Amino acid sequence: MTTRISLPLARATEPTACTDCGRCCTYVSVGINPPRTVRYASDVLWYLYHEAVSVYRDGDGEWSVVFQTRCRHLGLDRLCRIYPHRPLICREFDNTTCEVNAPEGGRAFATPAEFLDWLEDGSPALFRRLAARFAPPAGRPANAAGASHPTQVDR
Ligand code: SF4
Ligand code: SF4
Repeated sequence: MTTRISLPLARATEPTACTDCGRCCTYVSVGINPPRTVRYASDVLWYLYHEAVSVYRDGDGEWSVVFQTRCRHLGLDRLCRIYPHRPLICREFDNTTCEVNAPEGGRAFATPAEFLDWLEDGSPALFRRLAARFAPPAGRPANAAGASHPTQVDR
């Protein structure tokens, strides 16, 4: 008689360990208004005009501006040098829902052109109003050239 032993199935992919990563210690992220108006979409363009700044929309539709800047306390070995005394925001960060271990649905924008392309696809009317006055022709999608010119900013 043969005895069959059931082995637990291995996970398809193991989550990345924080000790091998350290990514969330290399930026500062601040929540921003979703770009549903010309005013807030123009703000996104302004963020993206700056070097080392990106904008992120997570899977729940929350938006944030991201400043690439390494924490002074992150060692070259990717370990926190002040771990017992790290700030609350570091303690509360959830490594099961972070952008490395649960990136589903998130979208990062590194350049104005990436944001304008996304806006044109999802909100063409808002895109046209934004592009008409606040998107310089260089880096603007080609079909924005004929956009109308509103007389007042839509806030
Ligand atoms: S929480 Fe996520 S992003 Fe931060 S170090 Fe851990 S695995 Fe990397
Ligand atoms: S204090 Fe420590 S855990 Fe917090 S961001 Fe800096 S290195 Fe990372």
